[in-house]
Amino acid sequence: MYLNVTEIESAVTNLHDAHPGTTEIITPPHHTHEGRTTRLLRVGTRQADEVPGILLLGGMHAREWVPPDALISLAADLPEAHDSATGLGYGASTFTAAQVTQVLDNLNLFFFPCVNPDGRAFSQTTSPTWRKNRRPAPAGFTGSSCVGVDLNRNFDFLWDHTTKFAPNADVHTSDNPCDLQVYRGPAAASEPETRNVVWALDNHPQIQWMVDVHSALPAILHNWGSDQNQSVTPTDNFRNPNLDAVRGRPDDGIGEFIPERDLQIGVKLAEGMNDAVSAVRGVDYGVDAAYGLYPTSGASDDYSYSRHLTDPTATKVFGFTIECGDTFQPVFSEAEQVIQEVSAALMALALIAPEVTHSV
Ligand SMILES: [Zn+2]
Repeated sequence: MYLNVTEIESAVTNLHDAHPGTTEIITPPHHTHEGRTTRLLRVGTRQADEVPGILLLGGMHAREWVPPDALISLAADLPEAHDSATGLGYGASTFTAAQVTQVLDNLNLFFFPCVNPDGRAFSQTTSPTWRKNRRPAPAGFTGSSCVGVDLNRNFDFLWDHTTKFAPNADVHTSDNPCDLQVYRGPAAASEPETRNVVWALDNHPQIQWMVDVHSALPAILHNWGSDQNQSVTPTDNFRNPNLDAVRGRPDDGIGEFIPERDLQIGVKLAEGMNDAVSAVRGVDYGVDAAYGLYPTSGASDDYSYSRHLTDPTATKVFGFTIECGDTFQPVFSEAEQVIQEVSAALMALALIAPEVTHSV
């Protein structure tokens, strides 16, 4: 059975109680529109400021039921394997006890299993296909679709698509509060759930990698999502207003700048995750730049990686989106298989990320 939002929070509490030496509960400051508190569980043997960190997000989109369960599952597996000195196996994707120790001693994993609990509760009790959060409809709007913001269009990265993208760019976002799927919100980072993710990054500068787990395609996506990658013209980037009229069009010779080395790191880490997924039961999620789906605006992966470019004091955070499985709410026996794939991917990332990022 899928976890409900109460069970997710009890799982966080119980995991910390069972493994106080390898976990810490972290509580971001912003309550959801329905008054819920969300929490992170840090897993690692070192303090938060001692070693690099990976931020793992789940549940941003309400109807995507598997990712929160996957994050809770891995957050349970790791301390247990560590305490009992055993390895972990997900299908044919296996990790030794030494590798588990290596991950927990050299990294912190910041699990944020359910970013959008209001949405998940609504999806699990009332409207299974609900995607957004539950921000009340603005004054004068009464339709049920006018409730909510798509949190993965609400981050402060090229958020205002009407001025930042070409008129004919296929950017999937909307300024219409009654758009049932992709309403971007009244302002960048207007939503408490978005601001909690920003808070987690602001307050943990050791975080160097962020994986936002969604469903379903499947795919493993690396930066950028705003336009095609290019490593030739540094001035062609998201901060350049001269590109506002043309951003996001395919094959027009203009793209978002990414240093060659960063692109290599992003691809290599995404491929490492995909190899681990494939080993579970032979499913190839595939690796692509996020733009390969369609141009994105206000998304968590590009926001994370953009932070060091807009603020020189911010840590460079490589952003990834995993689109797991091939349906939003598979029967739970299938969900358990997808959970294994996500767990294998994230374990592989944790194993290779430090070396790949600092040696490519
Ligand atoms: Zn999603």
